[in-house]
Amino acid sequence: MLKIIKKLITIYILLLLTACAPTYTVNTLNEQALTELSSEQIVNLNLQSCLYHDSNQIAVKQSHPLNQYLYRLIQPFPNTINGKELNYRVYLNTQPNAWSSLNGCIRINSGLLKILNDHEIQAVIAHEIGHIALNHSITAFHHAKAAEIKNNNEIILFVPQSLSQKQEIAADNYAINLLKQLNIDPNVLITMLDKLNNYQKEQSYSHPTIMIRKNNLINKIN
Ligand SMILES: [Zn+2]
Repeated sequence: MLKIIKKLITIYILLLLTACAPTYTVNTLNEQALTELSSEQIVNLNLQSCLYHDSNQIAVKQSHPLNQYLYRLIQPFPNTINGKELNYRVYLNTQPNAWSSLNGCIRINSGLLKILNDHEIQAVIAHEIGHIALNHSITAFHHAKAAEIKNNNEIILFVPQSLSQKQEIAADNYAINLLKQLNIDPNVLITMLDKLNNYQKEQSYSHPTIMIRKNNLINKIN
């Protein structure tokens, strides 16, 4: 009897859990399907992913001082990359983080704006522009092991670690040249990494260690 009651309790708990969890339909793409995606389809998936993050984060209003501050810092940068118009937003999020998507989204957390100086923030922007300019997302989708596309627009891409780490170095190298073109000392990429290092709790899977990125920057800058 006790066993039956225990079983009933377990079933009840399971029911409660399933009742609370939102149900999303997930479309899984395998390795082969991913290699067949066209560039246009990948741009659209990037747009979808950007919309997902925008709806799950708190973005500051256009008139917000943080947004005005960011708009001042992006003035020297090109407005379009590979024909895609760049659009920026600041998320109210204490995590010092930034990302970009191939359709032109560049998103920066307020936590990052807080710890970096003007030129270091421009170093982050130059790095993110690098990912877009070098079409990293196209290579990532074509070489990913699988992708999960949920109907809430969330996309999870399983990219080999070696590829994502290689792309980080390539984006850093792109940033060196872009910063030089804008007459900004590219060494700000190094001071930016030093500051981020203090806030990094654990080593990221997708990023090379700060030491590897710093060594590459030192070699390329000098
Ligand atoms: Zn990056």
